Amino acid sequence: MAGTAVRGRLTWQTATVGAVTDETARTRTLRLEVPDWPGHEAGQHVDIRLTADDGYQAERAYSLASAPGEPLAITVERLDDGEVSPYLTQDAQPGDQLEVRGPIGGYFVWEPGSGSGAPLLLAAGGSGVVPLRAILRDRSRAGSSVPARLLYSSRSWEDVIYQSELGFPADGVQVIYTLTRSQPPSWQGYARRVDAQMLAEVAWPAADKPLAYVCGPTSFVESVASGLVALGYPAGRVKTERFGATGQ
Ligand SMILES: Cc1cc2nc3c(=O)[nH]c(=O)nc-3n(C[C@H](O)[C@H](O)[C@H](O)COP(=O)(O)OP(=O)(O)OC[C@H]3O[C@@H](n4cnc5c(N)ncnc54)[C@H](O)[C@@H]3O)c2cc1C
Repeated sequence: MAGTAVRGRLTWQTATVGAVTDETARTRTLRLEVPDWPGHEAGQHVDIRLTADDGYQAERAYSLASAPGEPLAITVERLDDGEVSPYLTQDAQPGDQLEVRGPIGGYFVWEPGSGSGAPLLLAAGGSGVVPLRAILRDRSRAGSSVPARLLYSSRSWEDVIYQSELGFPADGVQVIYTLTRSQPPSWQGYARRVDAQMLAEVAWPAADKPLAYVCGPTSFVESVASGLVALGYPAGRVKTERFGATGQ
């Protein structure tokens, strides 16, 4: 739980970019090699700092995409007019160096004992799936049998991150997609933004005392979190991580 989350040194460390993997046309996973990495927990994030030749610096937060015990990785979605994400998704190459600070955050952390065996509801908007993927990986690595559902909202099938991994979920995990802007011809899943009706159909009943993690653009997070509370989820059982106004 929050009290036991790994706390990183709040100092900048040099990280070397390792393997890079294109997840979609707009998203890329970067392995980061940090010599003194203290370890991390699912749901935590890091700050990344870039320094230009003229000394100008920019820093942004990125959730950790890998489970505890796995090599450090982040998955970044490119915003064409952004400052940092175009560099990370297009220019960064294995061997390049950048600065990292973390791991950061305790509130959004999931550990195998979190929720005392209650079912897990994960809701992602766009790149908000990143820390939820780390949670699902941690669940598998820990051999947890907690039932889990991931409701994942993307603009289109082409925008679905971790497609092959999520296509073969672990036992006890269900992945439910909604594609908000375009759908493949034979699509039978949801095709709209997450709304109260969808949550009522997908979310575990409040009587099961589920634990929910909601992550994505601020508007997505606020709408889903209030929808879950309206279904009877206590606010304290709905953990939220906001990526900002333009995360999707
Ligand atoms: C805890 C946390 C975890 C996160 N994890 C992830 C993750 O796992 N993956 C991921 O892809 N992102 C993640 N984010 C989002 C990430 O931190 C960045 O916000 C994102 O990558 C965009 O950064 P950027 O520098 O490319 O864009 P920015 O330069 O910050 O620009 C973002 C948008 O704001 C607009 N903008 C910028 N400046 C102005 C201005 N002055 N006036 C008006 N509009 C402006 C730009 O046009 C652009 O559309 C996370 C955020 C948080 C807080």
